[in-house]
Amino acid sequence: MKSFLIEEIKLIGVLALQGNFQSHLEILNQLGKTSKEIKFSKELDQIEGLIIPGGESTTIYNLLNREKNFAREIKSFSRSFPILGTCAGLILMSKIEDDKIVKSLNILDVLVERNAYGRQINSFSASIQLKNDSFDERLIQGSFIRAPKIISYGEDTEPFAFFQNEVVGIKSGKHIGITFHPEIFQETFIHEICFS
Ligand code: GLN
Repeated sequence: MKSFLIEEIKLIGVLALQGNFQSHLEILNQLGKTSKEIKFSKELDQIEGLIIPGGESTTIYNLLNREKNFAREIKSFSRSFPILGTCAGLILMSKIEDDKIVKSLNILDVLVERNAYGRQINSFSASIQLKNDSFDERLIQGSFIRAPKIISYGEDTEPFAFFQNEVVGIKSGKHIGITFHPEIFQETFIHEICFS
């Protein structure tokens, strides 16, 4: 089995404007990675990987836009370095065409529907199947918290996470977008494959 030791990437940033960023910092710590909260665009210069956490995409989007070029700087960061987006993070990385509140960064060739499983009360946890040529098939735990659904994805996008025959995670080049939260269960595998 291939082992995914995260050695190459020195410092990983976690966008820390709103949402579940603390758990991601803890996962990175667990993996022996040095990590850093990112609150301003100038801090992107210091990191070689970024996590956009779950939370509320409209709020994260509004906070990003307090700084004029933050969104644009993340987009240009994505040309060189991997980004992992969970839930609201995926929403922000996707292509959103008709959402009046959130304009996405258009980093992933993926269309999502926000809040597709219903409201907070409809949130749930489940086993998610991970399948890809580059690792052994496995199940991990994840929570779907007012989660989006992946409606469609482009040809260069590889689905690798599945729940009840639906795609809930994709890889696209060096980036990963997932609709669920693995960090709540201390699941580290997705962080490992994204930043190895
Ligand atoms: N429903 C939220 C949104 O649209 C996402 C929820 C989450 O990140 N867990 O931003």
